[in-house]
Amino acid sequence: MPDYDTSEISLERKKKLVPWVLRFINNVRSRISDRKKGQSSLDELESAEIQLIRYVQDQSFTVEKLISNLSVFRDDNNIIRVKTRITERIDAPNFLSSILLPNIFTQRLVEPFHLKNLHAGTQLLLSIIREKYWIIGGRRSVRKKWNVRVKCRRFKSKSPMTDPVSLPSDRVKDAAVFEVVSVDLAGPLYVKR
Ligand SMILES: [Zn+2]
Repeated sequence: MPDYDTSEISLERKKKLVPWVLRFINNVRSRISDRKKGQSSLDELESAEIQLIRYVQDQSFTVEKLISNLSVFRDDNNIIRVKTRITERIDAPNFLSSILLPNIFTQRLVEPFHLKNLHAGTQLLLSIIREKYWIIGGRRSVRKKWNVRVKCRRFKSKSPMTDPVSLPSDRVKDAAVFEVVSVDLAGPLYVKR
């Protein structure tokens, strides 16, 4: 399994690649008649994602006690999740107890979310990601990432300011209601007499 922080392959590509690797391993071990062919099934994709997450967590969190200030547990798939106080709510399991991830993984994870949500800013991006994942020190690494990208920085730039111009006399003089009327309109206006 390639390293997440050093590998140049994007997360999306990995998510597509891993199911094929797992299928190959399974096929090699099973009889020819039982071997799987064709497109990846949903089960295979989900299983690959679970394996990826488990791998990243195993690399980063050796002892659960080391995860400070967070109450965590392992689910049925042996994935470390964060305990929340909204477990009584009816919602997606990932939202009720998010999957814990180290911030070393953030950059690969954040990018597709950022692009999919039209260059979303730090706060919006964190809210979207937290529907599924809990990243340790997420805010810091998300912000750090976008500060170096020119494409993303341009959305933060301030528009140029000009000196204020005096308003026309009709807009500042004392007048009765509807004494001065104007219409803001594009195109010709025909009036029947
Ligand atoms: Zn961007």
